[in-house]
Amino acid sequence: MNASINKVIIIGGGPVGLTLSIALSRYGIPSIVLEARDKATSPDESRAITWMPRGLELLEWLGIYHPFYKKGVLRTCHQFESRRGKLLSWSFEGIASPYPFSLQLPQHDTEMILEEAARSTGYVEINRGHKVIDIGQTEHAITVKVQCHDRIYELESPWGVGCDGAKSLIREKLNIGKTWRDYGMDSAVADFELKCGLSQDISNIVLDPQRPYGFFYFAPGRWRLIYRINKEESRSEATSPEFIHRLLKEKLPDAKVKRLLWASAFRLGQGQSDHYRKGRWLLAGDAAHAMGPSAGAGMMVGVLGAWRLAWRLALAMQNHPDSDKLLEDYSKEQREGANEIQNNNAMIFRNMAITHPLLAAGRAFVLRNFGRISSFGRSALEKEALLSQALPVSGASDQYVPSGVLSLSSYGPWQLGKRVPYIAADKGPHPLSGMDRSHTLISIGKHHPEQEQRLFENIMKEFSFPAGRKLVHPNVNSSYRKLSNDFVFALVRPDQHVVSISKM
Ligand SMILES: Cc1cc2nc3c(=O)[nH]c(=O)nc-3n(C[C@H](O)[C@H](O)[C@H](O)COP(=O)(O)OP(=O)(O)OC[C@H]3O[C@@H](n4cnc5c(N)ncnc54)[C@H](O)[C@@H]3O)c2cc1C
Repeated sequence: MNASINKVIIIGGGPVGLTLSIALSRYGIPSIVLEARDKATSPDESRAITWMPRGLELLEWLGIYHPFYKKGVLRTCHQFESRRGKLLSWSFEGIASPYPFSLQLPQHDTEMILEEAARSTGYVEINRGHKVIDIGQTEHAITVKVQCHDRIYELESPWGVGCDGAKSLIREKLNIGKTWRDYGMDSAVADFELKCGLSQDISNIVLDPQRPYGFFYFAPGRWRLIYRINKEESRSEATSPEFIHRLLKEKLPDAKVKRLLWASAFRLGQGQSDHYRKGRWLLAGDAAHAMGPSAGAGMMVGVLGAWRLAWRLALAMQNHPDSDKLLEDYSKEQREGANEIQNNNAMIFRNMAITHPLLAAGRAFVLRNFGRISSFGRSALEKEALLSQALPVSGASDQYVPSGVLSLSSYGPWQLGKRVPYIAADKGPHPLSGMDRSHTLISIGKHHPEQEQRLFENIMKEFSFPAGRKLVHPNVNSSYRKLSNDFVFALVRPDQHVVSISKM
């Protein structure tokens, strides 16, 4: 007999499942997280270590940025070298975010902070040691069969989300196909406790055609070494302590090693599911899109997906009439967003595969020259920081444009599908502060309080989603506005993406 609960069932208590549970709690939606493991990822098995600026903006929205900031270490610069010296150095300074850095934290700490935050909401139940072994669904509910030690029980609820990682059982049981892109190469990470003279706030990447490698500081006293496994080497040989210590001695002779914490070899490849939704089941995180190991893309794209899913799922739990379409929109947009990142990663992986000295010399030449153009560096970093991604929002169910009004794809710094443009705090308050759980209508053109008010009221009567309204910086000419005579409104989603721009 199934126990029926009116909570979202989340399978998997990794970073994505936990983030989703906290995001849902912000809408007052309860959830239950079923996690097979008894404990969080071990403290020494650091796995995903990077929170990019857009991820930090999500943490701020969730109200949990500070515990991350207190525990993490910051990286402010990316540096690429060849064997002959520095090729380019890109600083995060000046990027379009209040967080001009990436924050490094072992996955263990990420999971611990998220778990504590989830429990403290009062909306989230986390059951560790509960492994889902089968699932099903009807028109009105999903079911799960769970094993906890020698007990087996069943649950039923309106919606379920598979956040169960790259080898997702949920995806398999739903019979959702997966494409795997393979880059024909193995790579490895080895984490150490050590002392060395490298700068801690710079990523040190050496594009050596004989073996590209990089050093990344990620926690007090802890460094990660990433390196290519060459064709003639086996994965087990290349992750043996002897091999790793030898490599470290060769690349960083002055390092004083205290201990090797963890090493892991992985295939350079990326997985993509055909759909992220089937009926009342959804997929998120690695279960939906296993990203290749680059700049923490796996965890970042996953948690941003949880943000994009949470408000739609909250509306579905409240039986919104457009639930079906809203969740299809999630599947389409998040899938295309993940595809874009995977295509970017593919370029990096092809670069890692370069072994020919002439090709490497050509690459060094190009990088050295690009390195001199600061705007190129900034836009490359903003892309990597996931700040400039435009989601394909055209035709989305919440893309509201009043009748007889012109729909625009951009207006000043506002662009369809992108996040709310960032303008430094000293130029005016962020237009979403305090009103960020509903769709928000923002006046971004000519400022005329009475007319704006009238237009807002008319629009609000027709718009079918919980919506707030906001005048940008009402009494001054805010930098968020474009100086013009047009009345223009941007409709912004709770996940801060612009879904429509209407010119009256
Ligand atoms: C061995 C390994 C090494 C990695 N190394 C790196 C790295 O060096 N750098 C990097 O950026 N990323 C790394 N990753 C990827 C990174 O951990 C993920 O991209 C990120 O954690 C995504 O989070 P997620 O919540 O989607 O998936 P996961 O973190 O994989 O979480 C999925 C959770 O679901 C649980 N689960 C699975 N099946 C079930 C079930 N049937 N019932 C209940 N619970 C279930 C799992 O126990 C797990 O806790 C690594 C992943 C693995 C597995």
